[in-house]
Amino acid sequence: MSVINILSPHVADLIAAGEVVERPASVVKELVENSFDAGAKNISIEIRNGGSNYIRVTDDGCGISPEDAGIAFMRHATSKLSDEHGLECISTMGFRGEALAAISAVSRIELRTRLKGSSEGTLVKLTAGEIDEMEPIGCPEGTNIIVRDLFYNTPARRKFLKSDRSEASACQAAAIRCALAHPDVSIRFIRDGEEQFFSPGDTRIDSCIYTVLGRETAKDMLECSGEDSGLTLKGYVSSPSACRGNRGGQFFFCNGRFIRSVLMQTALEQAYKNSMLSGKYPGCVLYLSIPFGSVDVNVHPAKTEVKFSEEKRVFDLVYYSVLSALEAEKRSADIVPSPSTEAVLGKKTGFYKSISAQDYKSMQQSADPSKKDRKTDDGAFFSPKENYQTRLDLGYPFSTSSASVTSFVPHHPETARPKAENARIAGLSDEKTAGHVENAVQNVDKKLLPDHKIVGELFKKYIVVELEDEVLLIDKHAAHERMIFDSLKKRTSDINAQTLLEPVPLRLSGEDSELLGANSELLASLGFEIEALDDCNFVVRALPADMYPSDVVPSIEEICEKLRSGKAPSSEEARDEVLHTVACKAAIKAGWDTSAAELERVTTAVLSGEVLYCPHGRPVSYRIPGRDLDKRFRRIV
Ligand code: ADP
Ligand code: MG
Repeated sequence: MSVINILSPHVADLIAAGEVVERPASVVKELVENSFDAGAKNISIEIRNGGSNYIRVTDDGCGISPEDAGIAFMRHATSKLSDEHGLECISTMGFRGEALAAISAVSRIELRTRLKGSSEGTLVKLTAGEIDEMEPIGCPEGTNIIVRDLFYNTPARRKFLKSDRSEASACQAAAIRCALAHPDVSIRFIRDGEEQFFSPGDTRIDSCIYTVLGRETAKDMLECSGEDSGLTLKGYVSSPSACRGNRGGQFFFCNGRFIRSVLMQTALEQAYKNSMLSGKYPGCVLYLSIPFGSVDVNVHPAKTEVKFSEEKRVFDLVYYSVLSALEAEKRSADIVPSPSTEAVLGKKTGFYKSISAQDYKSMQQSADPSKKDRKTDDGAFFSPKENYQTRLDLGYPFSTSSASVTSFVPHHPETARPKAENARIAGLSDEKTAGHVENAVQNVDKKLLPDHKIVGELFKKYIVVELEDEVLLIDKHAAHERMIFDSLKKRTSDINAQTLLEPVPLRLSGEDSELLGANSELLASLGFEIEALDDCNFVVRALPADMYPSDVVPSIEEICEKLRSGKAPSSEEARDEVLHTVACKAAIKAGWDTSAAELERVTTAVLSGEVLYCPHGRPVSYRIPGRDLDKRFRRIV
């Protein structure tokens, strides 16, 4: 007796259905995508009880003719493809004529549809994919499809459904992705009789984000765009201060469809690396447009996973566009220009729009230390690095201006840096401490800063600055840490070292010793001179110029811990992690006495917009509007 059976078409349909339709949310997605494909401008989605009993999608698209209304539910029925010549479309848009067949195989369906311009509509009722009823009816132009009792004939699948609440949330998430994918289409989502959101369909991404994701999310978003011959990216990314604990706020779209892309996600997150707390994730709504031939959407039946043929270009486009959006925020936010500067320099908004991702990338490249200074045509030398600064300046009035140079000289007053520590450093003089962190706030033209007065300090922690109509509080350690980090990171040559009169002994575990050995070049380039006495014992002979000898052991332990915990998979990341530690240890600390000059330098850095977040992403400043104080004291209501 034969043991091989040919599956009946019905069973084959049920199996196929499992691939396309996993849960009610997949029905929502497929139906809405069909409405998009039909050119709808208004779509309404309604679900009840998590969608497993009732999903209705209504659109004002092209509608379906009476002849096609029955065929639409047959497997491989698609109007979007007729022969193999259109196969290109299969891999690009993912049309396969499977969705309606798959959904109808596992549910009861009612379809009401009227072709545009036609006088009469059609009603089709199906149970488990079989047509029960088909007749002409009067109905509006467009399509209205109701899916009832999903998986009623596949109890095993139905059992896998989660609670109504979580299925409803998944449906809503699918509807949100659809709405964000098409800011040009108005989408209404109704759950158990209550409207959850309504996007206006006015083509504006910002109004779509506002209505779909809510005001709170929208208000912390930064515009982001970029282009690279044929590839374009546009959309919004979250401000580093608004990052959240998971990736739920990340939406990527490719050629109008929501996609999941580890590549784009990595590029996005890399761009936030030095402005976000670890364990936090940025949000984004990013639209990638890419020539149809360069992306394959058929990696997964639900078409959400894609494969790019030019991964590096996509990665770079996302990375540099996001980086330039973050830079732009850094340069515009947290600055309150006084009315006079505003009048001279123009409004704050739009300052930086002129810097595209491409510009940013070339700026970065021209700032590349490996590229030597070049001679200009007129014989004068110009440094690529200066060029980078100047170009950024074009869009930003408060940053560097070569006219007035105030170089940042770290000054740790005697009270802060114990005399004993000074004595441990060979040949320490003012000259020597000066300039280690040079350039941290170089070139800030004070005339361009908003009017301000440093009132003093709170708890030896927060600098209190009076602005025109606000109080600015600055976390002096966090801000200084960032200044040092940026300046160290910008450095193209090795970081200055200070030689210790008395080498500091250091004992490490075997594992840490190996890590130290493996990263010896990196540590040396940052100013550490560490000599091994045996497998576990070392002496530190020199350390980065701004670090205190008493911090050297905890710092190296911290660095080993970071390298050990895999926080720094690449050499670039390892360097950043070590720089974080050096910057943190070298910065003025809460609890220290800090000189007026130093408070002034930190304040200048913050007011200039150079410093927004500490290297771990914590904010460095906080503003209290004068109005809030007036309200508190009932001077105004
Ligand atoms: P596909 O979308 O891959 O073509 P589907 O099974 O999703 O396959 O849909 C089958 C066909 O039914 C579509 O090609 C289209 O012609 C028609 N159709 C489905 N939904 C709609 C709709 N909302 N408006 C107009 N036509 C539709
Ligand atoms: Mg479809």
